[in-house]
Amino acid sequence: MRLILLGPPGAGKGTQSARIVEKLGIPQLSTGDMLRAAVAAGTPIGMRAKDVMAAGALVSDEIGIVADRIEEPDARRGFILDGFPRTVPQAEALDVMLAGKGMNLDAVIELKVDAEALVQRIAKRVADTLARGEPVRKDDNPEAFKTRLVAYREQTAPLSDYYAQRGMLTVLDGMSAIDAVTDEIFRVLDVEAASA
Ligand code: AMP
Repeated sequence: MRLILLGPPGAGKGTQSARIVEKLGIPQLSTGDMLRAAVAAGTPIGMRAKDVMAAGALVSDEIGIVADRIEEPDARRGFILDGFPRTVPQAEALDVMLAGKGMNLDAVIELKVDAEALVQRIAKRVADTLARGEPVRKDDNPEAFKTRLVAYREQTAPLSDYYAQRGMLTVLDGMSAIDAVTDEIFRVLDVEAASA
């Protein structure tokens, strides 16, 4: 199963990915996580990405990370792409990359959530993280979050049309309860529902 989860920051991609990982045993490949790890490790990619990420804008050299990651043994049975592709050129590059490996995508699922709810969700994510005594993401502050939403609207939202035109897109209501969204995802993927 090769799946793309689309949706703005705070839509629930990470939460739903964790459930799909558990159910299907395929890895979640999050370019955001990969880039945060690169920043923490101080690699050249991380050093270039650090300030851009903190400001909430998109970084430019992440495709190689995904190409390498897809080759790893745990991704042989499939993967969930979370946060990639994020622009039409990335989607085109992904198509070329997958075709080169003889792979195809099974589904693209977009989680739709209205902007006001996203702001509230991020505020909650920050409060929950602080309550656990964990460090808060540098881009989970109101200003960077606004930039992330604009980046989504201007650069990532066009992917809905890209995949819709290819007959691959399913749009789900990301405002529903977490379990209900999970059930819908499994219905789309044609796997037995989690809470049935
Ligand atoms: P995320 O964890 O998906 O919210 O990503 C956090 C940040 O990492 C984004 O705001 C971007 O700065 C960067 N990033 C993650 N994935 C990509 C991507 N596919 N293309 C460009 N930048 C990305």
